[in-house]
Amino acid sequence: MFRLFRNLSMAVAMMISACATTEVSTTPAETVQPLPKFELANDPWVALHHYAYHQARALSDMKVKGRVPMLDADIAAFTLDVAKAFEPVSAAYEPHLGSSLLFTGSLRWIAVALSHGDLEGVPDEAVKQALKDFMPVYQEHFWPRHQADSARFIRSVEDDLTAYGDAMASRLADHLDGEWGTDPLRVDIVPYANWAGAYTGTRPFGHITMSANDPEINQHKFEMLFHEASHTSPLGDQLEAAADAAIAKTGLEFPRYWHALLWYASGTAARETLGKDYEPYYVTSGRLTNEPSATVYQAFEAVWGQHDTLDARAMAAADLAMGRVD
Ligand SMILES: [Zn+2]
Repeated sequence: MFRLFRNLSMAVAMMISACATTEVSTTPAETVQPLPKFELANDPWVALHHYAYHQARALSDMKVKGRVPMLDADIAAFTLDVAKAFEPVSAAYEPHLGSSLLFTGSLRWIAVALSHGDLEGVPDEAVKQALKDFMPVYQEHFWPRHQADSARFIRSVEDDLTAYGDAMASRLADHLDGEWGTDPLRVDIVPYANWAGAYTGTRPFGHITMSANDPEINQHKFEMLFHEASHTSPLGDQLEAAADAAIAKTGLEFPRYWHALLWYASGTAARETLGKDYEPYYVTSGRLTNEPSATVYQAFEAVWGQHDTLDARAMAAADLAMGRVD
């Protein structure tokens, strides 16, 4: 239905009118929450955990595993005294440095505990003690800047959510043939996230982490927030089945086709919502123009408007990408 909403002001007006029921209800609307509730958090413990992981990696033989290099101000603040205080943190994180912040349970559960305000629940005693001991140093030398950067990011996202959030949420659900869950989505904004600049855990609940200092995330922060939300259930539940069916029928060989569908759906919903001048991430990142992805993304562009379901779009794009056009 959102193909009708070419005009943003019309879309917003229709959304408002759709929400303002003419029926007089005597009971509060308590059962259905079709649109997302984002809980944007600026938490020093979660920020410190991510800073510690990246700083420890920067000091190790490994490369910094993130698109955000250590910030100049953080390098300047890392004086000899601070470096001395950080040594136990490095030692505590050393066993984790080869692990993924998203896919490795030991690191994931540290972030989950911290995001719950449950420092005692951090499942690694050495990390827990090191974070506690280093927190005063972090608060003196790093946190005020990190807090300010994340606060600025959050204000910008909240402004966008106020203006466009409901329209975007409806469009995205439409593109994904999905629906929003009723639980709020916790979103931690931190200076350093992971190698991708943002990531989403799905268990035990939808939990998004985004970098406030990644230029590409900043440029696309509204789209990225919804992209990450599309990794949660039930909104993104249809993606893998749609991709798997298309691959099985067409023989398309494209890694993580389901994720390409997600990039295209979230980027397209963002452009429809923010206006045609908005360039989605799949455009600015070169996915639309550079092989090996260009064939697939150009197929999305060609077929998306000709079909109404995610399954049909995934199938038609895979067919086209394979050169099988009726
Ligand atoms: Zn993703």
